This record gives sequence, structure tokens and C-alpha cells, in this order.
Amino acid sequence: MAQEKLRFCRLCDIFDSIPGDISAYADRLYSLLDEKEKADSALMKQRIAVCDECDRNSAGTCLECGCYCIIRSMKQDNRCPVDKW
Ligand code: SF4
Repeated sequence: MAQEKLRFCRLCDIFDSIPGDISAYADRLYSLLDEKEKADSALMKQRIAVCDECDRNSAGTCLECGCYCIIRSMKQDNRCPVDKW
């Protein structure tokens, strides 16, 4: 089976293919990351807690970068675009 290529986070490129259930889509993206690239669940929860309180969060989408907050949170070396995490 060919290795699937994973890009973070250019969802605008593939917006039409994103299903309505973003959590299932996020789970799939997370499963495709190399283990060394993954943020662990504690770090993701910490990041999402910040996003949940952020005035730049619009229904789970970051208005600064256009990413889904959950997807931005899942890669270890990703950063909040305004340095909140
Ligand atoms: S990534 Fe940063 S700016 Fe965007 S919603 Fe989360 S905390 Fe706010």
C-alpha cells in the first residue's frame, strides 16, 4: 500500500472533501501522522482549552490561520499563530 502523503494544515486546498463530521476527519489525519510528529493527548487538550477560550475561535475554526483548531493542535511542532500556545 502506498504511503499516504499528509500535509498540515492546508485544508483550504481540499475543503470540498472534508466530511461534515470533523472529528472523524481529525482522527484519520492524526492516525496518519508519524508518531514522532504527534502531539500527545494531554498537549492537545491543553491547546484546545486555550482555543475554546479564544476570541479568534469561530465554531472550531481559527480566524487567524483558517485551520480547524483540533487539527492545528495535533502536530507537536505546530504553534498558535498569535502565540497563545
Ligand atoms: S490557534 Fe491560537 S488564535 Fe487560533 S483559536 Fe487557537 S488560541 Fe486562538
